[in-house]
Amino acid sequence: MTKILGIIGGGQLGMMIAEAAKKMPEHISKIIVLDPTPNCPAAQVGAEQIIGDFKDKDAIVDLADKSDIITYEIESGDSQVLKSVENEAEINPSPDTLKIIQDKFLQKSFLSKNNIPIPEFIQIENLDSVKEGLKKFGYPALLKARRDAYDGRGNFKINSEDEVQKAFDYFKGQKLLLEKYVPFKMEVSVIASRNTKGQIKTYPLVENIHEENILRETIAPARVSIEITKKAEEIANNTMNVLKGAGVFGIEMFVTQENEIVINEIAPRVHNSGHHTLQSSATSQFEQHLRAILGLELGDTTLVRPTIMYNILGSKAFVGKYTPITISESNVYLKMYGKEISKPARKLGHVNVVSQGDETIEDLLSKVELIKDKVITQPIQ
Ligand code: ATP
Ligand code: MG
Repeated sequence: MTKILGIIGGGQLGMMIAEAAKKMPEHISKIIVLDPTPNCPAAQVGAEQIIGDFKDKDAIVDLADKSDIITYEIESGDSQVLKSVENEAEINPSPDTLKIIQDKFLQKSFLSKNNIPIPEFIQIENLDSVKEGLKKFGYPALLKARRDAYDGRGNFKINSEDEVQKAFDYFKGQKLLLEKYVPFKMEVSVIASRNTKGQIKTYPLVENIHEENILRETIAPARVSIEITKKAEEIANNTMNVLKGAGVFGIEMFVTQENEIVINEIAPRVHNSGHHTLQSSATSQFEQHLRAILGLELGDTTLVRPTIMYNILGSKAFVGKYTPITISESNVYLKMYGKEISKPARKLGHVNVVSQGDETIEDLLSKVELIKDKVITQPIQ
């Protein structure tokens, strides 16, 4: 029996889920996305669109009425509203899982309770508790918004006592936590999946390079020892074993100076650091997500070809329409998200630079250097 798929959020992640769904007509007959921006990226690839806010209760009820199964590309949805429509449509990952993950304090408490390594943290009630925490953790430390953070915008790094008040004021009364700073060697992640029947599969460990808090580049596989890879993949599997809910999860981690692994955060959705799977693996993370929520056997996660994913971010110099980006080179796959307007650091697309023959990661890194100049957005004159 085919199903109608509802997706909350029709940005690039929703778009690539929709593209994968279109390749599964025997399972999915129609795709509907809820997104506030008319002609959002997912709508451009053939999804029907309900124009509305992600948190608009009526719009979510409408989506649930029209869909058999609902998933999401953003973690900021209202889990209570989603729970109230569970009788209308199956929701994956479940609203209960979403509720834990979308609140960094609940997420970290959950992980800690299950003996999964994370940086030390405390809940923040007021300015005094920030000062208490800083006594315990020392400087620097990170003050973080518990909810609705992305691209590092919900974080404030406190470097010294002088910055405490400023950091606290920055969040204007939002719920917060304070976290010990981890002087990591490297940021890595595992894209993990679990289907509705409990089958779990993880993709190999990848390395993530951030610039100004935004993911810039993912190197698949990560340039770490086999021991570190094993440790990280084991932690990802342990996490999936305790975290219920079906779908793909992006598990972000730090490799510490002592070669230990701690989890930074988990995203209950397909993840930017998994975009390489579109070319590097037999099953993309988007297809895997659909297989997971439909209760199908999970696909092969072997990394067939080493790949570097480089994000195309809007130039800092301007806001507006930009000249089309094109690249024609063998084994370089350009994916633009159909966003009309470039804004500073806005995620507009990505390229996957895929190894051919015996090209090493070092070779791919040099290739990426040559591509960087070709993907800078320029205003249309
Ligand atoms: P995203 O950037 O994934 O959208 P986000 O805005 O929720 O997520 P985090 O992942 O919490 O932010 O943090 C963003 C970046 O800040 C991390 O990728 C890491 O580089 C840095 N960071 C976060 N927490 C710590 C920490 N405890 N110690 C050191 N660096 C940290
Ligand atoms: Mg993060």
